[in-house]
Amino acid sequence: MGKVWFIGAGPGAPDLITVRGARLLGEAGAILYTGSLVAETVLQSASSECEIADSKSMDLEQVTAWLLDRAQRHDTVVRLQTGDPTLYGVLAELARPLDAAGVPVGIVPGVSSAMASAAAAGECLTLPEITQTVIFTRLSERTQMPERESLVSLAAHGCTLCIFLSIERIENVVANLVEAGWASTAPVVVVHKATWPDEELVLRGTLEDIAARCREARVDRQALILVSPALGARAQRDTKPSKLYDAAFPRRFRPARETPDSGG
Ligand code: SAH
Repeated sequence: MGKVWFIGAGPGAPDLITVRGARLLGEAGAILYTGSLVAETVLQSASSECEIADSKSMDLEQVTAWLLDRAQRHDTVVRLQTGDPTLYGVLAELARPLDAAGVPVGIVPGVSSAMASAAAAGECLTLPEITQTVIFTRLSERTQMPERESLVSLAAHGCTLCIFLSIERIENVVANLVEAGWASTAPVVVVHKATWPDEELVLRGTLEDIAARCREARVDRQALILVSPALGARAQRDTKPSKLYDAAFPRRFRPARETPDSGG
């Protein structure tokens, strides 16, 4: 009996899969990937004998059956997922029948599109004293959201929001943020296909005009919406330096020392 690995392919660029993920792709006897979301160039480390299949047109049961079947025949079977496999995938649903059949399962993390989008836009998700919290969320749609996680209630925190799976309804996202108290002039970044060679697109706007900008650029899928009081921080000169770099702030391996402005 082989082992089934759920591997994060990363956001798109073939060199953004982890070294561990690429090594396992090279060892795999069979790989099942989501063709609509995973860039095929990521598969370049697979061996020439490896069976590679696209799960685009399979339902959950067919995917499970495929993985169970291949695990009887190969030592290493890979389910390749976009970004990080623990976010907005169906890992639990797919792993459950494997667990029940006694097939060992492993998970290899990946670079989520949230991280890739922030990097593509040159933005930070946290900023000292401004926001220290990041919420990964989505609008409710076919997948029902838990009541306490409505975008309005989450956005009311005023912290960074990485909004997945919602670009098709950017107008709704905007309406929810405004209802939560965000100003219509608040900056928004939308990143389409972050890190995909020749396809990445970074759109910048405000809550007022971002929907129109997305329409203009025909960005209506595979995009991440970033909203944060930290956006544009590099252009601002008056934000406070992080305590991490403040010599007066005691850290575990670096005793605090007195500095002229630490009051000592
Ligand atoms: N597990 C993935 C998310 C899968 S859900 C991750 O960690 O990134 C699919 C959603 O992820 C898309 O609707 C989009 O919001 C986002 N997404 C995936 N790849 C992306 C990319 N390269 N650029 C921007 N957004 C992306």
